[in-house]
Amino acid sequence: MAQRSSNWIWAVLICLGLGLAACGERRTAVKEEGPPEPVPMGQLGPDVTPTAYRLDLRIIPTEPQFGGQVEIDVDVARHKQTVYLHARDLTLETVSARLPDGEVIAGAYEKATETGVAKLTFASAIPKGAATLVFKYSGKLGDKPDTLWVAEEAGERYAATQFQPLGARKAFPSFDEPRFKTPYTITLTTRESDVAASNAAIAKVDKIEGGLKRTTFAPTQPLPTYLVAMFAGPYDVVEAPAIPASAVRPEPIPLRGLTVKGKGTRMAYALKHTAPMIAYLEEYFATAYPYGKLDIIAPPNFSAGGMENAGAITYAERVILLDETASAAVKARFFMIHAHELGHQWFGDLVTPKWWDDLWLNESFASWIEIKTAAAVAPGNAYERGNLRDAIKVMDLDSLDTARAIRQPIAADDDIYNAFDGLTYSKGAAVLAMFEAFVGEEAFREGVRVHMKRYAHGVATAQDFLKSLADGSKRPEIVDAFETFLTQPGVPFVRAKITCDKTIGKGEFRQGPFAPLGVEAKPKTWSVPLCLRNLNRNEPQQCAMVSAQAADVVLLDVCPQPALLLNSGGNGYYRFDVGPEGWLNMIAKASVLSASEQISLLDSARAAFLSGGLDAKTYWRALETFAKAEAFDAVGAVADAIGELRDKFVSVGDQAAFERRVRSLYAPAVSSASLTTPSAESVLGAQRREALISAAAYHARDPALLKALSDQGAKALAEGPQAVDANLLPASLWAFVHLGGAPSVEAVIAKVKASSDATFRSTALRALAGLRGEAAFKPVGDLLLSGDLRTRERADLVRALFEDGEVRAMGWAFVKANFEALAAKTTLSGRALYIRVTDGFCDEATRADVEAFFTPKVAQMPGAPRSLANTLERIGRCVRLAEAKTAEVKTLWAAAPVAAPVRQRRRR
Ligand SMILES: [Zn+2]
Repeated sequence: MAQRSSNWIWAVLICLGLGLAACGERRTAVKEEGPPEPVPMGQLGPDVTPTAYRLDLRIIPTEPQFGGQVEIDVDVARHKQTVYLHARDLTLETVSARLPDGEVIAGAYEKATETGVAKLTFASAIPKGAATLVFKYSGKLGDKPDTLWVAEEAGERYAATQFQPLGARKAFPSFDEPRFKTPYTITLTTRESDVAASNAAIAKVDKIEGGLKRTTFAPTQPLPTYLVAMFAGPYDVVEAPAIPASAVRPEPIPLRGLTVKGKGTRMAYALKHTAPMIAYLEEYFATAYPYGKLDIIAPPNFSAGGMENAGAITYAERVILLDETASAAVKARFFMIHAHELGHQWFGDLVTPKWWDDLWLNESFASWIEIKTAAAVAPGNAYERGNLRDAIKVMDLDSLDTARAIRQPIAADDDIYNAFDGLTYSKGAAVLAMFEAFVGEEAFREGVRVHMKRYAHGVATAQDFLKSLADGSKRPEIVDAFETFLTQPGVPFVRAKITCDKTIGKGEFRQGPFAPLGVEAKPKTWSVPLCLRNLNRNEPQQCAMVSAQAADVVLLDVCPQPALLLNSGGNGYYRFDVGPEGWLNMIAKASVLSASEQISLLDSARAAFLSGGLDAKTYWRALETFAKAEAFDAVGAVADAIGELRDKFVSVGDQAAFERRVRSLYAPAVSSASLTTPSAESVLGAQRREALISAAAYHARDPALLKALSDQGAKALAEGPQAVDANLLPASLWAFVHLGGAPSVEAVIAKVKASSDATFRSTALRALAGLRGEAAFKPVGDLLLSGDLRTRERADLVRALFEDGEVRAMGWAFVKANFEALAAKTTLSGRALYIRVTDGFCDEATRADVEAFFTPKVAQMPGAPRSLANTLERIGRCVRLAEAKTAEVKTLWAAAPVAAPVRQRRRR
């Protein structure tokens, strides 16, 4: 970093170059107006507002450095001698301010904070009004996807950018906050043979000396820094048919795909499915796609699923490079993530949150509309249950005392990184879906359309959004109700006690926060759009906004055996409990439940069990009832619940009995015979078969099934992944690793190293969690420390290892022994992962160990303080739960029936 003194020398040189008339003292020197500005710790001050950027950068991926010139037009509200903006790890060679009359005021730069606030001090104050800040600078090209970075594949080097949330300040001096939206004119000097791409279309290309070219892009629409994107490298470019004009857009949109060399053909599937999604979204928003052209880009070593850079969306290869042979799960992931990033082009890009505390608006909304879009363009794959499935996964996190609210005040960088968690994405999406169901789809859409019109190309807050929704839907009452979910963490838990008098029931409803046994939750209430359905009669649901902590209701025709579903349709972000008898009555009516209701009921049964309202036997009855449900995701929900029982309550000595019990659930529907793909199997059928087989393999450990799967895994390694059913590849490789020990682990790792297929690599890496024993762990540890994994692959592998209760302890010992090396290979914001993965432990000793290990480190890990607090709380809760429930749960398999099929028992 250049020191202040040397900057002054540069300033003098500029003055000499420009001639003295334009330099030094103004004829009437302007002094700073008002008190000196303190160093901004959160947002920048109000005095200087950028209005346009001109970036002129040289990016050659084979060079260590990049650099060039940035001009920022600004409006200055008062005479300012000191200006704060963002620049991090950059070498600023010259800084100056150019005034409208041509006068140049020299400036100096110094670092103001560790997180990238920079202080510019000028020789005299910049007068109130317009000015242009000019920087000549250079920086180091990054090696991780958290700024302008370079990655290598097959001997070629590619540059790409990932600026959200705080990466732009490491690529160019900037006012790096979402509220500052301005046009950008970007010029890139690259090798002539490289492809240069950015947010806007190419305006002109000039060849220059030394085998280089200058590509100038058209000015962009107003963008915040975090949506700016630049690419340079030998990318394959696939031109797709333009997205046709629409009712809201007269011009077609040019569409291209960019991949690393040789992978362009694998973009065809994604490109083909893009136009229908854009058409759906334009219709939904009643607003044209805003950015003139669309590039879909898969740079190497990209670590998120996707990033919504305006007009130049980036994706992980495992998400976007696929074809018709991909598994149903891989296709579903593509549809949802692609729809998510496209949805952001309106929500996030066209209308941007003012500050990071409203990041939830972006992510919740995109997570919600991805489901609608995918369901509309690829019907018949149960995408519409996606919000529910995701919401259930974050409810435990949300119920912690240390959880953050969806809309959490953000005072420091830590909070910005925390803002990208499951609560922002999944809880936010679920709450949107709940209120959409409550006011009706069309009324809700009207509110969204109002919002797009009001704030197009601008910024908006949560309050602005809720006002738009209320105005458009003409349902002002939802604002206060919505706020109860936005500003406080927690999951509403609605308990009903129904007493019968002939056919009439008296219902006592109580709401409070969900908490597991052993936790005294602070009282809280929400305005819950509660929807009830009497399962004994074929009547429509009845919904009402419930804001009181307690309510008594007379229920006609529910008795004598009340089977009252408290979350009809499964649309509500809440859990419920109806008491042991109520549960039995509902389970008896399982056949009238929709798939969403089954999934929601299973979650609430689990909540009732964890909080002590439901005994283990009745809980198990619910699991048994839905273990072989028609809906693949209900089957998956049961499998997750069984996995949890295994993880929390089954000791090593009990495993065989537990597995016998689980096997009886899935036999005889699942056997080695199910591995043959039936002809004309539907997508849903394939996913159901996969869910059943995986459950029987992972939790029942059916030996015949494991052997058959392992043989398939061996075949996939020998002949290539296409040699086996793509849907069963994950379970097949897992079984191969599980049964084969260290030699199998090494065989899988060798195939991973030889493959550049991101989907195969990610599947194979996750399968390594099937390993057992230190000898099999050793090569996995070596792989984690090697340079053979992409940033995201390393994170996914670590996550998979810690998800398995039989590998977790080895994983923890490894992380402790190698933390510095692992951290060096992880983005700064990604390091908190190593804390979060330990949340599956369930003993006091490890809890203390995790605390002692990470406490001294969290200050250097963005987002980590809250991750550590969440993790310690989770482990502590698990310890108390296990103490309270283990003996009771054990009775489930102690009395296990000996009814497993003969073929499978023979092998024991
Ligand atoms: Zn997103």
